[in-house]
Amino acid sequence: MTEPKWVMHHDDPPCEARLNDDNICPECGFVPDMQSTCFYAYCPVCNLRLKKMQCPRCKKTYKSSDP
Ligand SMILES: [Zn+2]
Ligand SMILES: [Zn+2]
Repeated sequence: MTEPKWVMHHDDPPCEARLNDDNICPECGFVPDMQSTCFYAYCPVCNLRLKKMQCPRCKKTYKSSDP
């Protein structure tokens, strides 16, 4: 089993945008604090968010442990 790539998202409903490299939310324009963020698993090959730990493109499944 391969480790997925964990990507930080804003988690402040309804915003769940992917944060950029500086941890800034591109939707809200600020850096959310740790309580307003969560990690989503991504396929490191396709750079797509996994659905039920499976990549929607290459169909590879990943380990579901948290970072
Ligand atoms: Zn946001
Ligand atoms: Zn993939």
